[in-house]
Amino acid sequence: MLYYSINKQSSKADFKEATIKGQAPDKGLYFPEVIPQIPQELIENINSYTREEIAYKVIQPYVGDTIPGNILQNIIKETIQFDFPLVEIKEDIFSLELFHGPTLAFKDVGARFMSRCLGYFVQKGDKNVTVLVATSGDTGGAVANGFYGVDGVDVVILYPSRKVSSVQELQLTTLGKNIKALEIEGSFDDCQQLVKQAFADAELNRQLFLTSANSINVARWLPQQFYYFFAFQQWKDKSNLPVICVPSGNFGNICAGILAHISGLPVRHFIAACNANDVVPQYLQNGVYESKKAVSTLSNAMDVGHPSNFIRILELFRHEYPAIKSALTSYSITDDETRAIIKKTLEDYSYLLDPHGAVAFAGLEKYLAEHPSEKGIILETAHPVKFYDVVEPIINKPVEMPEAIQSILPKTQSKVKMSPDYDKLKEFLLG
Ligand SMILES: *Cc1c(COP(=O)(O)O)cnc(C)c1O
Repeated sequence: MLYYSINKQSSKADFKEATIKGQAPDKGLYFPEVIPQIPQELIENINSYTREEIAYKVIQPYVGDTIPGNILQNIIKETIQFDFPLVEIKEDIFSLELFHGPTLAFKDVGARFMSRCLGYFVQKGDKNVTVLVATSGDTGGAVANGFYGVDGVDVVILYPSRKVSSVQELQLTTLGKNIKALEIEGSFDDCQQLVKQAFADAELNRQLFLTSANSINVARWLPQQFYYFFAFQQWKDKSNLPVICVPSGNFGNICAGILAHISGLPVRHFIAACNANDVVPQYLQNGVYESKKAVSTLSNAMDVGHPSNFIRILELFRHEYPAIKSALTSYSITDDETRAIIKKTLEDYSYLLDPHGAVAFAGLEKYLAEHPSEKGIILETAHPVKFYDVVEPIINKPVEMPEAIQSILPKTQSKVKMSPDYDKLKEFLLG
């Protein structure tokens, strides 16, 4: 399998090259040259397959011969070694819980898969790879955890001081080993600017093998297909297929779902639920795509004004607007609606949603109101405890701490405080 750059200026790359580079030299996103088809037999007999077997069938064509079969099997096993339960919230709405991984958010899947692939690819090199990431909260934890203890890889995470939740900070700063956390006395934009500067610094790049763990990386994007298949496996009424509603920011997650569907996974329809950042809902409504400056909301992991993966959805539909419109519906949900949903689902169904899952729930309810005979699944992308500062005042009681969080509370944080000064970062990286 080869990947072309959506900008069509760079040469094609195999999975290894696309994973190491992240983005094509012409700054385009990599896109698979062909979309593999899942054997019909697997779909018909999905309950007789293990999750590992399904994931292998899904991802192997994308990896090709860049990773031997037995090693790929092992990478998959480590990537998905937690649960992906489909839980009924009410008669017509089910929650696919994607928060049972180590950092309690769906990004664990992509980050764990990518880190292990990269670890394999750099194994034989003589130079360690340094993964440099700026995070506003969730990505950093998933990436740090995914790369923890991977030989040959050092991870440096930049996060804005006092702007990540305390749970998120603990997840970044208590690992140690090959994970280093830099607390930048500035904003997320400052962190991102420093990372950009490092990638553009030719002298630094001669001395270090730098790479990013950005969400556009194919090794983070593609494995997100797995849990759409796991959802179908657990879906009881296969004669009435589910609508799937994905809380979306950068649109990587939903794009993986649509890819799985085009590869043969039965799904009735997709819904992208957005917060006030409504570039895609606007586009689907009036055909005009206009990126905007991101605005802050309660579902902050989706505060994206220029969704970087949406171009891949356009590519999947060959930029044919009517085809996109018939496969995908999108809603913009306000913070007031989000609060109301969190409160109501807890009161009426004893189910506590995080703000992102609540946006999805609101979107799915809007859709089902117009399609009353249908049923749907929301992707619950994070555990509510990750956003307890938002959730607790809404429900007026504390959110229960799962084991994964309790165990890091007593750990000592290790971090380096730094002003947003590129020379200091460079000195740190070279030191
Ligand atoms: C990143 C994130 C999202 C958005 O996913 P995209 O792939 O960027 O659309 C939604 N919910 C949570 C909890 C996230 O961390």
